[in-house]
Amino acid sequence: MTRRTLIAGNWKMNTRRQAATELARGVVDGLSESSQVEVVLCPPAVYLGAVAECVVGTPVGLGGQNLYAEADGAFTGEVNAGMLTDIGCGYVILGHSERRQLMGETDADVSKKLHAALAGNLVPIVCVGETQEQRENGETEQVVSDQLKGSLAGLDEARAAGIVIAYEPVWAIGTGLTASPEQAEAVHAFIRQLLSDDFGEDVAGQIRLQYGGSVKPGNAAELLSQKNIDGALVGGASLKAEDFLGIIAAG
Ligand code: PGA
Repeated sequence: MTRRTLIAGNWKMNTRRQAATELARGVVDGLSESSQVEVVLCPPAVYLGAVAECVVGTPVGLGGQNLYAEADGAFTGEVNAGMLTDIGCGYVILGHSERRQLMGETDADVSKKLHAALAGNLVPIVCVGETQEQRENGETEQVVSDQLKGSLAGLDEARAAGIVIAYEPVWAIGTGLTASPEQAEAVHAFIRQLLSDDFGEDVAGQIRLQYGGSVKPGNAAELLSQKNIDGALVGGASLKAEDFLGIIAAG
């Protein structure tokens, strides 16, 4: 089973309109025509429209960083799946550790969002990962397994093949500490096995597993060469076109 490498840039709460469009154009212009890698940009919600104008008609895709799992209505401040697809998104990041930690998002919330994303024709990128303390206590597999089971609750086999899982060890996010390729691959292989137990080997073999946590041009090739690492979810290094393109080139 060949899985197309997926490199997504999670811009988080960064950029302004001009910086966002410059960055998007820099990625579009710098992308090699022969690249087989699938590339997605996830700007802040308010800049999705501006970035959509830069990437429309190019191979670069667009993604949201979150969604609210309800249809239109009285939900002040929120953005739903229908709005994301309407503005040109094909992807949405769900359950990022920052949302889990800072906004109190639970696995049950992520599961609701997952179903809303799929119903809205968005590919969900579901994030899981352990903290430093959990790793030191030997709890990595338990934590990842619980997050995965809770976040994917109610997902059927037919839809599972189209989702993306991002393994992002919390201790490696924005810290400059990267999981070694062996550490990352071990967890990715574990996740693949869990998916296989739930959805069967064939479906599990189609699900793309991204690694996230201080991915840079200098460490991307080794991470991406691992058997079960099918892409990267990139934070800091996605804010400079040159760095992001360097990661894409490694894919
Ligand atoms: P980082 O962030 O690349 O800055 O570590 C990754 C992420 O949080 O998705």
